[in-house]
Amino acid sequence: MNSYGSKFPYLPERISRLGELACNLWWSWHPEAKSLFYLLAGNGTEFKSQNPVLLLSEMEKSVLDNAAKDSRFLRRYDAVMARFDAEVNAYDSWFYSKVQDPGLYPIAYFSAEFGLHHSLPFYAGGLGFLAGDFLKECSDLGVPTVGVGFMYPEGYLHQKVSADGWQMNESETLDRSHAPICRVHDKDGQPLTIKVPISERSIYFEVWKAQIGRVPLYLIDTDIDANDPWNRGISSRLYIGDSEQRLVQEIILGIGGTQILNALGIRHSVLHLNEGHSSFAILERIREKVEKGLGYRDASDQVRATTVFTTHTPVPAGHDVFPFALMDKYFESYIPLLEMSRDEFYRLGMDPRNPDAGFNMTAFALRMSAYCNAVSKRHGEVTRSMWHHLWPNVPEREVPIGYITNGVHVPTWIDSRLATLFNRYLGPNWLNDHDNPSIWQLVDDIPDAELWRVHRLLKMILIAMMQERARERWREHADPNIIMASGIMFDPNTLTLGFARRFATYKRANLILQDMERLKGILNNPKRPVQIVFAGKAHPADNAGKQLLQRVFNAARDPDIGGRVAFIEDYDEEIAQYLVHGVDVWLNNPQPPFEASGTSGMKAGINGVPHLSALDGWWIEGYNGSNGWAFDGKNEWSAASDIVDAEELYSILEKQIVPLYYDKDEAGVSSAWVKVMKESIKSAAPMFSSRRMVKEYALKFYQDALSYANGMSP
Ligand SMILES: *Cc1c(COP(=O)(O)O)cnc(C)c1O
Repeated sequence: MNSYGSKFPYLPERISRLGELACNLWWSWHPEAKSLFYLLAGNGTEFKSQNPVLLLSEMEKSVLDNAAKDSRFLRRYDAVMARFDAEVNAYDSWFYSKVQDPGLYPIAYFSAEFGLHHSLPFYAGGLGFLAGDFLKECSDLGVPTVGVGFMYPEGYLHQKVSADGWQMNESETLDRSHAPICRVHDKDGQPLTIKVPISERSIYFEVWKAQIGRVPLYLIDTDIDANDPWNRGISSRLYIGDSEQRLVQEIILGIGGTQILNALGIRHSVLHLNEGHSSFAILERIREKVEKGLGYRDASDQVRATTVFTTHTPVPAGHDVFPFALMDKYFESYIPLLEMSRDEFYRLGMDPRNPDAGFNMTAFALRMSAYCNAVSKRHGEVTRSMWHHLWPNVPEREVPIGYITNGVHVPTWIDSRLATLFNRYLGPNWLNDHDNPSIWQLVDDIPDAELWRVHRLLKMILIAMMQERARERWREHADPNIIMASGIMFDPNTLTLGFARRFATYKRANLILQDMERLKGILNNPKRPVQIVFAGKAHPADNAGKQLLQRVFNAARDPDIGGRVAFIEDYDEEIAQYLVHGVDVWLNNPQPPFEASGTSGMKAGINGVPHLSALDGWWIEGYNGSNGWAFDGKNEWSAASDIVDAEELYSILEKQIVPLYYDKDEAGVSSAWVKVMKESIKSAAPMFSSRRMVKEYALKFYQDALSYANGMSP
């Protein structure tokens, strides 16, 4: 039972479904639905937050009454609602026609983070956006899915940078009543409350729901009166706290999350774990079956045959390991419910290379899932080598971990003005059929000057956003250094590189700063200048990451750089949209082989922003010689290899990118450059879309797992 009604004090009858639309993130990837809210806001300025729930709940009664009588508004409203019903409430879908009747039990998709929209701060980075894009695509394709995750009212962190470039974390609490989420109630109309009896004092949580097209996402909220302060904080922020708090977080996600589905009567047929944080969902599913009378063996065979596990990183810190003593504290009374001994249970999570370290969530998920995958071809190789020792008797290439390369949700990440251009040249069906490469050949028919005109507009919009932010900071009396570093001197005629990702050390944000003299020569070339915009947050406990950020910031405020390096504070989904649409080149120079996939380069690529990247992650598959630029990246991590890699980077910039960009005709268009843009769109849009990705999951994993589940006893 959910009521959007209570969120909105007043909605006229004729347009009352605006409430339903505002509470379904479907609007966020449908420009015509978005424009309905812009229209209501008048000029759009009041819709700056892009949160339609906030907009509608604060809207004057008279404005809404006028809209309900305005025939132009009503025509658009009716068209949007008709499309909404055709997509969200329809039974027919790709999944129905190609896989099976979606009326059967859904797939439960568990993830510690979901990046859906900047009004919902439930993400830290790429893993979250992958999960968010995944759910949106499941909605589009009609894959019957329910998501389970956390509602982090304090999000990841809000970032401000001090005048000397040190990251400061500011916290801000989500206003639940004005966010596009609804509280879930039980059948008596009370807030659904779940009790997880896992420690001396039970932990309680309430449940919220975000609706993503057809897909519901249930969100755990432990910040309620029934809990003591320590337990209230379990779901307050992402990846915060000590090992114990993290263990409890993961227990609540896996075990508590499964209990939500139970409480709502949602029997899931397949369990998909997006990274190992939620692996305890496997245990709870086994426990439920054992409770119903199945033996442990049968129960675990059934669960294993219907579990999909996606691993996302070769970085060791990305794999949680919990000391056995700590595990004892929480699992002592739980293990007997599984009809297992302590040793048997702990062996499932043991890493043979490091048997005393504790319970390894990834090792556990790998052993207990019939379908395991990495997120790019290269990451598949790296992962098989990393975990070969779990299968010592098979050759490395036969280690049962495959790969499905990540993709991005095209309707979310394509700029709407570019989409309008595609509407004209790619035929009416391009968006419906966007994983079909042949549609994209028509990009060649777009006149160079038209594509360039749209791109230039997007770049000016990006620069205007940066300057507006600088103005706001100036009003707050920020230090002049901060204003200087925020891109106020950026010029839309200058070749612009963008680099935005978490400041994790292996991503090497400072690679391009290796040789400052050479860089200054590139940036300050009087005829062919270059500017670079950076954004990204360091993990609050990662001092090395904060130091990287400080180096970038110091470069940005260095007078010799002449304002040609900028740092945008508080990178989030909204800033990402501006950047991946508006820069000229997307820079990515991770230390191979640590980039499992990377997705921001795909977002840029589909918008005609070519990728300049080390050959790692998705780029090994994506680079074809004409759609961007690549350099090898040395496979060992040392100061010497950074020098070699930086040298390659400078040389590609000086010899290839800069001359190509400035090779302009009288009209100011470089047709050789636009050719690279077109190749970038043609190659990234079909192959690195979440549409291609989710279809692969459905056909390689879900189909098999579902047919097993259909024959399974309940
Ligand atoms: C896409 C995205 C990411 C992930 O980008 P990577 O290239 O995988 O590092 C992180 N943060 C935001 C806001 C994004 O939109």
